[in-house]
Amino acid sequence: MIDAPNSPSRPARESAASIGALDTLPLFHRLDGRRVVVAGAGVGVAWKVELLLAAGARVEHFLGRGAIARGETRERYAAHARNWRADDLAGAALVIGAGDAGGEALAAAARALSIPVNLIDQPEGSDFLFGTIVNRSPVVIGIGTGGASPMLAQELRSRIERLLPARLSQWAGAARAWRARLKHDVPEFARRRHFWQHFVARTFAERRDPLEDDFARLTGQANEAALPRKVLFVGAGPGSADFLTLGGLRALQQASVVLHDDLVSDEVLELARREAKRIGVGKRAGRPSVPQDEINRLIVAHAKPGEAVVRLKGGDPLVFGRLEEEIEACRAAGIDYEIVPGIGAAQAAAAALGVPLTGRGHARRVQFVTGSGKGGALPDSIEWAAIADRDATTALYMPRRALAEFTARAIAAGLSPATPAAAVAAAGRAEQGLVRTSLAALPEAAAALPADEPVIVLIGTVTREALAEQGLRVA
Ligand code: SAH
Repeated sequence: MIDAPNSPSRPARESAASIGALDTLPLFHRLDGRRVVVAGAGVGVAWKVELLLAAGARVEHFLGRGAIARGETRERYAAHARNWRADDLAGAALVIGAGDAGGEALAAAARALSIPVNLIDQPEGSDFLFGTIVNRSPVVIGIGTGGASPMLAQELRSRIERLLPARLSQWAGAARAWRARLKHDVPEFARRRHFWQHFVARTFAERRDPLEDDFARLTGQANEAALPRKVLFVGAGPGSADFLTLGGLRALQQASVVLHDDLVSDEVLELARREAKRIGVGKRAGRPSVPQDEINRLIVAHAKPGEAVVRLKGGDPLVFGRLEEEIEACRAAGIDYEIVPGIGAAQAAAAALGVPLTGRGHARRVQFVTGSGKGGALPDSIEWAAIADRDATTALYMPRRALAEFTARAIAAGLSPATPAAAVAAAGRAEQGLVRTSLAALPEAAAALPADEPVIVLIGTVTREALAEQGLRVA
């Protein structure tokens, strides 16, 4: 983040979770009482009829001319010993056909009436596919491979089965029955979340059916619990998800609200739960920014009612992240906080350059310095004698606008113009770019880096490519 009082302000943005391309979209179709037309005969067809009846559909089955319908009568099932006709399809929710029932003609007739059609064993000619099913109704898991491999789907099913709680169906059924009552018995949203967290833990832990007593106990606990009102300040690292810590990942996976900087990459944001609310509260030099007061307000406003808030910051939240102001806002509102540090830009840049930040005998100190003060100009408070220390490594954050002035003043303060220096854009990301040069040539060299990416500068002997040239050894 940057001190940029001159940049225009903008409101926080909420963004939806994103997902990669889907071969098919799994939807869960309610068929209770709906009419479904099935055409053709065979084992595959019989199984589809079974599934449809299990889902509550009314099945009209056209078996073909001369076919002998089974003697048994089944509820909601009507067999016809003739071929289907176009007017049989009217009003059907779905149409399903086997090859012997004139697949293409059937598909065309169904589509003419805007009815989705499935042709058995013909994924390409079908509007929808049947998945492999794990049935723990009301929990239903569908596995689709887009027709790639039914055997793979079977194996996936048996592995998933092993992960499921013993009484999943019963506990999910109880969840459905209790949901409406819960609103009344536990009016506060955050306490209802407490209820559901413990309910889910129970579902996995118990080997027995849920009891009315479970509801009473869980609602009692939810109403009495001291709700944690806590914000996690999490370092997202420099970009690539490889640089997120395990603690950061855990924090993201429990968050219900994620307030993130612009610098946080999509790759990291995707690791948050899909249901989590993501709010962009970016600040970038010279671009519309969400004012710090507004960020503080949003953190408190979400944490107060008991949301699990993660404030996700680029790099390490401890470095140039205006963390003290956000902590102060939490303190003032009586909200706890925890810090999950991250890998900062300086470390990521050093790793990109393949150099350490310290070196025995020649780089005894590292200093993190900001190049951006009020209005984006160089801060007045820079200690030039420290910058001129040839035994120090200087990491200059937000260097762009005032880099020429910074190097000129560092040289004027006594640092050799020949001091090795490097600038790294988008360190730790796929777009990473870097230049290695001397202090004097740095402003011009750094100008060649892409304008849209964050840049950090490292100055000092460690950035020399071949330390051996100076007869130095890195311990
Ligand atoms: N807390 C962050 C720093 C925030 S200040 C951290 O620890 O990295 C924002 C500045 O950090 C940017 O202007 C840039 O100088 C630097 N920065 C952040 N991410 C960067 C990256 N991936 N590559 C290069 N510089 C980066």
